[in-house]
Amino acid sequence: MANPTQTIVAFIGLGVMGLPMAKRLLAGGFDVVATDLSADAMEAFVEADGRTAKNIVEVAPVTDFVITMLPNGQIVRDALLGDMGFAMSLRTDTLIIAMSSSAPLETRGLREDLKILGLDLIDAPVSGGARRAEDGSLAIMVGGAPAMIEKARPLLKAMGSTVTATGEIGSGHAAKALNNYVSAAGLQAACEAILIGREFGIDPNVLTDVLNLSTGKNHSTEVKLKPFIIPENFTSGFAMALMAKDIETAASLARQLGKPEPGLEHAAALWKESLERVGKAADHTEIYSYLKVARQDR
Ligand code: NAD
Repeated sequence: MANPTQTIVAFIGLGVMGLPMAKRLLAGGFDVVATDLSADAMEAFVEADGRTAKNIVEVAPVTDFVITMLPNGQIVRDALLGDMGFAMSLRTDTLIIAMSSSAPLETRGLREDLKILGLDLIDAPVSGGARRAEDGSLAIMVGGAPAMIEKARPLLKAMGSTVTATGEIGSGHAAKALNNYVSAAGLQAACEAILIGREFGIDPNVLTDVLNLSTGKNHSTEVKLKPFIIPENFTSGFAMALMAKDIETAASLARQLGKPEPGLEHAAALWKESLERVGKAADHTEIYSYLKVARQDR
């Protein structure tokens, strides 16, 4: 790959994750031009000495890589191939890196459609949240042609501390959805244990210590219970709507493979109902509030 300073990256989606990820690319010397529907998000990137373009199509002919960090795969498809789509104006040697958490089979379909335009795409979703996006230590899982993964590696290394090739196109998105199902199952179990322990008179902080010193330890017991859930401030920075989407993606993948998984179906239904009750603006750690009320009503 050419020198980072001569590599132009069009970055679409400067939200909770996209803004710090785009800043990591800037810090790595890449020439990043970013866009977002939100003027505030664009302003935040300008404050970090980044370049923005309200109409990203303007930079299409000089773009070497496109990175999308939008809420879901449908929005990614619209941004690339919709009415105002960006893809038609790109050079055929531009590589598109889809970093949102999306549905794997939709990603395969998107790549087929982009191929008609002579373009290639890899899927490279991330795990780690805003803090790890800020310090460039995201876990990145990437699916697609090995040569394209190698081409993208310098950019991915600027944003993540690990880059794990998962196989064919869409496999990064599948791995991400399955990871979030496992993460959500651990979070749900931790919240239920805190609620039951509390009723029995065990201090939630003490029970958290017990879990973290014992075999019940998981990511949620380590980094979510004490900072966000026990004090009920619910400020982890990862939206419940995004978690519910990821679990539904995992459940729907199992269905598409012809064999729904009962535990996964149960989790998808639980998070869907929780989202309806707690509201679209909720943080995903508010699953605790939902479980608390549901327990009281039982
Ligand atoms: P977010 O809602 O904070 O950011 C999305 C951004 O996209 C917003 O700034 C929005 O204005 C912008 N946007 C929406 N449609 C657009 C369009 N058509 N053109 C340009 N900009 C548009 O979401 P996020 O938390 O940054 O998550 C992004 C993706 O990363 C999601 O797929 C999510 O599941 C995944 N993810 C999030 C986290 C997390 O902790 N927040 C962690 C890992 C993965």
